[in-house]
Amino acid sequence: MSEAVTMDKIVSLCRRRGFIFQSSEIYGGLNGAYDYGPMGVELKNNIRDFWWKEMTQMHDNIVGLDASILMHPRVWEASGHVSNFTDPMVDCKVCKSRFRADQIDLNAPCPVCGNKGSFTEPRNFNLMFQTHIGANADAASIVYLRPETAQGIYVNFKNVLQSSRVKLPFGIAQVGKSFRNEIATKNFIFRSCEFEQMEMQFFCKPGTDEEWFPYWREQRMEFYKKMGIHPDHLRWHQHGPDELAFYAKDAYDIQFLFPMGWQELEGVHSRTDYDLTQHEKFSGKDLTYLDPETNERYIPYVVETSAGLTRNVLMALSDAYDEEATPEGDVRTVLHFHPAIAPVKVAVLPLVKKDGLAEYATKLEHDLRSDFYTFYDQSGAVGRRYRRMDEIGTPYCVTVDYQTLQDQTVTVRFRDSMKQERVSADKLSSFIHDAMKNYRRGE
Ligand code: ATP
Repeated sequence: MSEAVTMDKIVSLCRRRGFIFQSSEIYGGLNGAYDYGPMGVELKNNIRDFWWKEMTQMHDNIVGLDASILMHPRVWEASGHVSNFTDPMVDCKVCKSRFRADQIDLNAPCPVCGNKGSFTEPRNFNLMFQTHIGANADAASIVYLRPETAQGIYVNFKNVLQSSRVKLPFGIAQVGKSFRNEIATKNFIFRSCEFEQMEMQFFCKPGTDEEWFPYWREQRMEFYKKMGIHPDHLRWHQHGPDELAFYAKDAYDIQFLFPMGWQELEGVHSRTDYDLTQHEKFSGKDLTYLDPETNERYIPYVVETSAGLTRNVLMALSDAYDEEATPEGDVRTVLHFHPAIAPVKVAVLPLVKKDGLAEYATKLEHDLRSDFYTFYDQSGAVGRRYRRMDEIGTPYCVTVDYQTLQDQTVTVRFRDSMKQERVSADKLSSFIHDAMKNYRRGE
């Protein structure tokens, strides 16, 4: 982690450059909810697409799904969320601040007002948001906003199996919104009430989970390295007996070194046949698999990979952020995003507006649009324009100057090294494609 990075600086950059805003800001904001601005939505979509491609296209046995957020309430009884998805909560009787009882020392003074012995007894608080479907707001009409996307996968296991000609082992991948009424939302988008998850449930023959579990742990760690995340900022945390869900065989978290310290980014869990067994019990439907090779019938085991997409956005920003001294003697703020996730890939900048340079640059930018997300900027000194692009993590700036008009070459300026290279304008697209493919941080 760069020494320069703090959560305050990330929050401020995100607001200033249109990555992330507080929800309903003009009304004073809503706790635990955030809006993704023009740069933020590109970054988030790029991470989502990178994950989706990695998990579906790059594997021959994973298919996608997009289940609805609202599900039959029995789903959440079967999954255990109605009875168990709780956090212990305490309030300070003096200042009314609310805390998760497992995150503070209950014998210490209140961390907000400093009073001693001011906490209420811990009580359990269910994290699911409830609402009603239809006109009658009675107990029979209760529905929940899903607190995870995984259950949508389990309840569609049979549908996918029967409609997609998949055979065990296979996985189902899904990206979507989840909601949790978190008691303590803090650290910006790290823990919010509305967030997005990227989950994949891998169904396999009982016993073979022993091979698939390490396989998926390795795959998932490799994914972050492919995304350009610094390996020193990633580590494993294996769940101890006190953390492990009662049905789980084993569980590991990938942790990332966020500005506030090491925290969970993704969970890779060996869940046995717990979820499908529960749904079979509660729905009364047969969720077994008939093995075509052995003619055995069994409920598959599941290895789950569960990552937060919005938490990935915070990881990408924290990992990429740096403040660097420039040869001119000032300091630049730069986001070293991997080009695959950078919101803008190429900025086109005419050195000056006059003498036909702006027209040339505009045409060039239009020509590049079908290949890359581009940005055109002709205002201010070129050095300032480079800085603006550094701040949003644009990996390549293309400058059109007087020489361009003579020999049809442009300069490509690399964000990380700030080096420049002259490239023939008609080869620009393939040059940038190659540079993106071979990108190594710092070059
Ligand atoms: P915690 O114990 O921190 O509340 P968890 O272990 O319950 O989280 P999971 O249910 O395993 O989290 O969720 C999988 C992933 O979803 C997490 O690794 C995280 O990236 C993301 N996630 C979970 N809760 C939130 C949240 N409130 N805001 C943003 N992302 C979240």
